[in-house]
Amino acid sequence: MKPVLNWTNAASINSYTLRLSCTLVFALLYTFSAFAALPPEPKRKPLRTKNIIILVIDGPRYSEMWGATPGVIPNLSTRLKGKGVFFSNFLNDAYTYTNSGHTAITTGINQPIDNYGAELPAHPSIFQQWLKQTGKPATAAWIVSSKDKLNILGNTADSVWHDQFLPSLNCGVNGPGTGYRADSLTLIEVKKVLTTNKPNLMLINFMEPDGYAHAENWNYYIRGIARDDRYVQQLWDFLRKNKNYKKNTTLLITSDHGRHLDGIDGGWIDHGDNCQGCQQIFLLAIGPDFKKRQTVATKHTLVDISATVAKMMGFTFEQSQGQVMKELFSRKKLRDLGL
Ligand SMILES: [Zn+2]
Ligand SMILES: [Zn+2]
Repeated sequence: MKPVLNWTNAASINSYTLRLSCTLVFALLYTFSAFAALPPEPKRKPLRTKNIIILVIDGPRYSEMWGATPGVIPNLSTRLKGKGVFFSNFLNDAYTYTNSGHTAITTGINQPIDNYGAELPAHPSIFQQWLKQTGKPATAAWIVSSKDKLNILGNTADSVWHDQFLPSLNCGVNGPGTGYRADSLTLIEVKKVLTTNKPNLMLINFMEPDGYAHAENWNYYIRGIARDDRYVQQLWDFLRKNKNYKKNTTLLITSDHGRHLDGIDGGWIDHGDNCQGCQQIFLLAIGPDFKKRQTVATKHTLVDISATVAKMMGFTFEQSQGQVMKELFSRKKLRDLGL
């Protein structure tokens, strides 16, 4: 038999190929024309924030702070509050003790972690993720803490991340096991690090309200809150006068937990359950990208800090249980952030 069928097949294949090519060309043309018809992407301005400092005042109860203003916090409640956004319904709604509250801030995950420094957070921190994603050196991210046991915030038990992309540490008198340091000395260390290393990301812990409350010394507990109020103001004054930090630095002031309401388990001396006194903390957010003179009553919690920091610093932090706190930003800023 002559291979006539082959010719027929070849012709039909050619015609099929031709039709397919035409379809593809038309599809491509249609796609391009569709794109051409779209309005240009709105230009997103980068944020002015280049540095974020999270300052944690350890364990003051709301009733001795924001519930009695100006009281012992004249700087926070009058001079600083108007410069930013105050969250009046900000909670640690999970584990209300130091290492857990701080871990919620730095990993975005509520975890019932050992409170004596014997356990590392189960997940990597914003410091590790940021250092990895930016390629910056360890000196660009710092934890400066009055409590020595908070050195745990620098590392993680996660086997993939353990000992990787670690931030720099300055915790307690001289590292883990050396005891708590006075907050005045921690502030000195903070200023030294900011001047010398010029980090972009920092967490500070001031311990005096919590430390003196556990020592059952009411006057020193109150004095601790008053001192920390002054130290926050001194830090803000330092930042706005420092040429590396002025106009490009965001300061997030918060607490890790409150203390029992009066009549619950010894009242102000201790903390650790889910009573309102232990859960109710605060957030005051000051920075060049935030609204000013705003009070937000929407509920937010500690884990929202990591989501917000990651968004502002431009790194991904999908593990966080929190949400970006959109109330911080104007509509225009939200568009700039792609929110
Ligand atoms: Zn405590
Ligand atoms: Zn309680």
